This record gives sequence, structure tokens and C-alpha cells, in this order.
Amino acid sequence: QAKADGRGTYRFANSEKNQVAQDRLVLGSALRDSLARGALNLHYQPQVRTHTLELCGVEALSRWHHPHLGNIFPSRFIAVAEETGQIEAIGRWSLQESCRQMVQWDKDGIHVPTVAVNLSAVHFRNRALPEYISNLLDHYKLTPDRLTVEITESVMMDSSSDTEEVLQAIRNLGTGLSMDDFGTGYSSLSRLTRLPLTEIKIDRSFINDFEHDTNAQAVTMAVIGIGSRLGMTVVTEGVETEQQRRLLEELKCDVMQGYLFAKPLAPKDLEQWVRQRRTIKNLAEPAGKAKT
Ligand code: C2E
Ligand code: MG
Ligand code: MG
Ligand code: MG
Repeated sequence: QAKADGRGTYRFANSEKNQVAQDRLVLGSALRDSLARGALNLHYQPQVRTHTLELCGVEALSRWHHPHLGNIFPSRFIAVAEETGQIEAIGRWSLQESCRQMVQWDKDGIHVPTVAVNLSAVHFRNRALPEYISNLLDHYKLTPDRLTVEITESVMMDSSSDTEEVLQAIRNLGTGLSMDDFGTGYSSLSRLTRLPLTEIKIDRSFINDFEHDTNAQAVTMAVIGIGSRLGMTVVTEGVETEQQRRLLEELKCDVMQGYLFAKPLAPKDLEQWVRQRRTIKNLAEPAGKAKT
């Protein structure tokens, strides 16, 4: 608790600031090391179609295990990466690693329709990004619709004209463009219609207490309505209970992601998950003609 007087408050703020500064120093160089050694991993969380429960994609999420520091969560190291100028390297790595993994799954007979990769706002100020993505897809001989780029509302807020052009160029490749964590930032609805989005992901905080929170239900219903009328796929993240799933089905949300289906999984575990599902899937046929 910070004291009401100036001094207490100062100390409180100061120690938080120190924590951040320390993170930047210690984690920043450790991250540089790990990145250079190829010691970061991606885990993949399944996304399923609401009506058929079939796998329609995965989201790639970065994982970092450091030999001395242990597991460091992305909520911590992504911020460090942004502050220490390493986020672009991480983004390029996760795009490349996701493509490589997808080709591997194809070879192994594991059908993963799309991979969604999280990119930070800085990426979109770089005019070279669309070409980087296009070269990757060529290199791995993947059709552009196999890849989705997730952006956050901070990207939408970025008024630089570069950002809009970069987003449009990525969209022109045929790659998906998803607005992540929708409802937590400051985006306006007019901006939502101006960007070439293919998908909108309703933030987990709306789904959290969904069963009991009629306000959250109302907002979710409205966003689903707007998204689908704009021709976007609507995804909800953080679905944890059967009751939430049922409600979201009623609200006609297209795609769901959350612990109810699976946590983010290491590639081998995802394979296992897909194979296991195949045997249960007969009960979910006929599938496949869903809109995306
Ligand atoms: P996000 O993109 O919104 O990813 C979803 C987060 O929610 C993931 O956290 C996931 O593990 C978690 N999650 C999924 N389903 C559930 C659920 O049912 N219940 C709960 N309680 N949580 C669930 P994670 O992996 O810790 O990542 C946190 C955030 O860090 C991500 O949020 C994303 O913004 C960022 N991030 C992760 N990897 C990368 C990356 O490679 N690049 C960038 N720029 N950001 C990343
Ligand atoms: Mg995301
Ligand atoms: Mg999200
Ligand atoms: Mg989120």
C-alpha cells in the first residue's frame, strides 16, 4: 500500500520503476542470448469452430524457458522485448517458426488449417513486413490463407499512414488479419470498418464471468453482430466452461479458443490432441462448409 503522503507514494512508484528497469537490464540481455541460441519456443492453442467443434486453426504463443531464470511469461518478456528493441526479431522468428511447423504438420498428416501469429505495433511501421511475409510463404510453399496476423488495438491507434498501408499490403497477400483482445483498448468503431480485418477476437475479460454477467453478454452479442455484418470471423478467447460454450453458441460466435478445448500446447502435444480428436470426430461430422 502506498502512503498518502508524498514520500510514501514516491517510494512505491520508485520501486515499481526499479523493477521495470531491472527487468530491462537482466531480462533484456538474457533474452538476446536465448534468441540467438534459438532457445525460445512456440506453443500452439487450438481454435475450434463453434458448430462442429472441428479444429480451424491454432494461435502461436511464445514460450521462454531460461536455464537460470526459469519460465518467463510472455506478459513479462514481450514488454522487455519491446523496450529493448528485440520485438521485431521475435516477430520474424515466430512467423518463420510457425510456417516451418505448419509444413511439418502437413508432412505428418496433421491438418492445421491456419496459424495465427501475434505481432506488436512496431512491426507495422516497417514497410518491409509484407514482403518478409510474402517471401516466407513462398519459401515454405504455403498458401497465404494458412497464416493470420494478430494485431492489437494499439496498432489501430497508430495514426502513422505507414501502418495502414502495411496492413493493407498484408491483407492484399491474402493473409488473415485479426484484431486481438478487442474491447480492451481505445479503438473506435469507424477505425474498425476502415482497416482490412478478416477477424475480430473478443477479449477474455468479457468471457471470464460470462455466465453471471449480463453486461458482458450484451457487449459480446453486440460485437458478434457488428463483426459478422462486417463479414469478419468472430472469435472468443478464454472459453473455460461448458456453460460459456453453450451461451456463445447461442450468440452465434463463429470460433472459440480456451482451456475448455486445450491450453497452448507444444507441437508434439498438439499432434496428439488432433489425433485423439479424430477418433471422437465421427460424432461431429458433417463438417467443413463453415464460413471463414
Ligand atoms: P493473447 O494474444 O491474447 O493470447 C491469449 C492468452 O490467453 C495466452 O496467454 C493464452 O495462454 C491465454 N489463454 C488462452 N485460453 C485461456 C483460458 O481459457 N483461460 C485463461 N485464463 N487464459 C487463456 P499467454 O500465452 O501468456 O500470452 C499472453 C500475451 O502475450 C498474448 O495474449 C500476446 O498478447 C502476448 N504474446 C504471446 N506470444 C507473443 C509473441 O510471440 N509476440 C507478441 N508480440 N506477443 C505475444
Ligand atoms: Mg493473440
Ligand atoms: Mg487475445
Ligand atoms: Mg488477451
